[in-house]
Amino acid sequence: MGAPAPRPTGGQTFRRAVPIGRRAAPQVSLTAHADKARLLARVFVLLMPMLLLSGALGQPTRDGQTTFDTIQRDHFDAIGITRERAPAGAAASAGAAASATAAVPALAAGADTTLANPTNPTNAANAATDAGHSRPPLIVQILLIGPRPDLEPARRWLATHANIAWREHADGIPIVFTQNDLIGPQGRLTVGAAVSGGIAIEYRDDALTNCVFVHELLHVLGLPHHASPHNIMAPDCFGDPLEARQLDASQSAELDALNTLRATTPRGIFSWAKRG
Ligand SMILES: [Zn+2]
Repeated sequence: MGAPAPRPTGGQTFRRAVPIGRRAAPQVSLTAHADKARLLARVFVLLMPMLLLSGALGQPTRDGQTTFDTIQRDHFDAIGITRERAPAGAAASAGAAASATAAVPALAAGADTTLANPTNPTNAANAATDAGHSRPPLIVQILLIGPRPDLEPARRWLATHANIAWREHADGIPIVFTQNDLIGPQGRLTVGAAVSGGIAIEYRDDALTNCVFVHELLHVLGLPHHASPHNIMAPDCFGDPLEARQLDASQSAELDALNTLRATTPRGIFSWAKRG
């Protein structure tokens, strides 16, 4: 996969803005023209540092590199994210109610030998119930972009440890894989990065990529980093393999309390995660 075609930099955007102002000038009074010039000057002063910064971080610095900034600009359009959580204590009691009403299907599912193969959300949900989760699973909508790794280890881990299943959807959380070196938001090499509007992952091998995928997805769902190197939210994925990584009780409670995640974009409001 080659480096993405260079995009117009912020600087070019600004140069386009000046002729538009000049074209408009003959139709307005001199005072208005002066006001407009002052406004443009102010916009210039405010935007210039941002334009310089985005230029520095936004362009591939050499062949074989892709910047997070470029991925963000090309694929993420969420303006705002809304997370709905169950009130404190309600997740546990709602879970108790759910487990009471779901007792029959859960028992029936216990005899289902497909449980070990959580390849669809229903099976993943059943597997999650078996692992002791009392609430319905959180179903996350994701949009996979770029080369496709084998994400079955991530699917299994999320179902059993976090009661999370995912479906691919065109309006889901954008998750971009690149086989180039990924340059993170701070300009350093990284294997994965997330903002609330999407995720970028350097795909080199399936084992590392699955760990990074789970870690970054949990960031978008609201989990910060964790100090333990054995935790899935440890700042890097180079130690324990995914299968050995854990969530602690407070992280599990945090995820269990999450009921919905919605993204507001210029194209509309989309459900990114929903329980049940
Ligand atoms: Zn992280």
